[in-house]
Amino acid sequence: MNPLPISFQDIVDAHVRIGASAHRTPVFSSRTADGLSGASLFFKCENLQRMGAFKFRGAYNALSRFTPEQRAGGVVAYSSGNHAQAVALSAKILGMRAVIVMPKDAPRAKLDATRGYGAEIVFYDRYTEDRDAIGAKIAEEGGLTLIPPYDHPDVMAGQGTAAKELFEDAGAVDVLLVPLGGGGLLSGCAVAAKALREDCLVYGVEPEAGNDGQQSLKSGKIVHIATPQTIADGAQTQHLGKHTFPVIQSLVRDILTVSDADLASAMRFFAERMKLVVEPTGCLAAAAVLSGRLDVRGKRVGVILSGGNVDLAKYAALLRDVP
Ligand SMILES: *Cc1c(COP(=O)(O)O)cnc(C)c1O
Repeated sequence: MNPLPISFQDIVDAHVRIGASAHRTPVFSSRTADGLSGASLFFKCENLQRMGAFKFRGAYNALSRFTPEQRAGGVVAYSSGNHAQAVALSAKILGMRAVIVMPKDAPRAKLDATRGYGAEIVFYDRYTEDRDAIGAKIAEEGGLTLIPPYDHPDVMAGQGTAAKELFEDAGAVDVLLVPLGGGGLLSGCAVAAKALREDCLVYGVEPEAGNDGQQSLKSGKIVHIATPQTIADGAQTQHLGKHTFPVIQSLVRDILTVSDADLASAMRFFAERMKLVVEPTGCLAAAAVLSGRLDVRGKRVGVILSGGNVDLAKYAALLRDVP
């Protein structure tokens, strides 16, 4: 078997690299949540990370590793979500040019946030144009380096620092639950968790409507699906990556799913009980335990809250509609 694309040492190195720039986010607990689950839950609050999500960790680690030539050329990324802001902010801190390829109909707040970090935005039509091709063309013609949102060893190693901090600050956990889109966060966190406690059970949690990860783990190959309809917009990925999948296959115990209703209930729980704004995708892992889908009674359980970027009008509507 080939060795995995990242090792725990890569995560240790990434942690040193991002140390001065990323927040060491807090780990919170709640007696109410413990009561509901019958477990001791430790919530790693990446909704309080810079730019509002863990993606800053991976983007900053990847950009920090650029050669002087790459730094001079700058970075290009395509995303309408948190990866765009993570790359834009990292490039600003490191004094690099950033070009972000975004759909024409991306939400105003995301455009403004990305522009606010000084990035140049190139628009494309998501129904008629191929963003990969546009990104590749910009990279080639302008001498920029393309950084993908999840399928890159430096991105994966950066994301793994979230689990490393959780273990350091809360102690080792028996179970670790991680939101899953393309698997950058899950693969990095699994490598960290298994290195720090070999028998830790690591689970990925994805939206019911987009269970490509679950299908992939079952079938042993990367399953592609159509863009899923779910309120978890950060997990509307169509497939796992060629770097993330082998890590998930060898270290992750299982992949669970939750419904949009489970996500909305979890969002409301965090707002009401813990005074935390967590975006729908950020609630994936928490919803698996708060809804009782995974029995964790008597266990110490780490739960990654991956982000807190929400459109306030949508957020209010989702909270209002929880029964
Ligand atoms: C991107 C994202 C995810 C999914 O991360 P992957 O590395 O693609 O699996 C989960 N939560 C939030 C808030 C995100 O922005």
